[in-house]
Amino acid sequence: MKRAVFPGSFDPITLGHCDIIRRGVPLFDEIIVAIGENSAKDYMFSLEQRQSFIEATFKNQPKITVMTYSGLTTDFCKAVEAKFILRGLRNPADFEFEKAIAHTNRNIAGIETVFLLTSVETSFISSSIVREIIHYGGDFKNMVPAAVSRN
Ligand code: ADP
Repeated sequence: MKRAVFPGSFDPITLGHCDIIRRGVPLFDEIIVAIGENSAKDYMFSLEQRQSFIEATFKNQPKITVMTYSGLTTDFCKAVEAKFILRGLRNPADFEFEKAIAHTNRNIAGIETVFLLTSVETSFISSSIVREIIHYGGDFKNMVPAAVSRN
């Protein structure tokens, strides 16, 4: 069973995340979208909202499940018996950041990270830009799945 964890804050989920998840589906038997909860972080959307956005978006996809976790991502991977972490890469800054984490996760837990390059159409999207547009009342509908924009 090839099970991958796609970890993130998803505050909120964007079309960039959706692109990576959909393209990961043929590579794995199951993808667990894992929403990390860090008590030191301020989120725009509650954990319940972030989870329901993702569940609504992928409700017809039996290979995709949504879970929440706190603590080390590798501990969560072990708990759900996932040997792979899926991550998206948008630019060199993502690469430098992800490289160190991927080496560390393989080092401490033997977990392989699989990277997918973001699609051209969604490469500019980030949750932080979406939050900024929401904050100032702008139109963010073409950056997020319908479950987020109709909220
Ligand atoms: P984190 O707080 O861990 O950065 P995010 O929710 O921002 O969590 O992102 C989770 C994953 O989704 C990361 O691998 C990130 O690189 C990827 N990602 C974010 N935005 C995009 C995008 N527009 N295209 C592709 N991947 C993306």
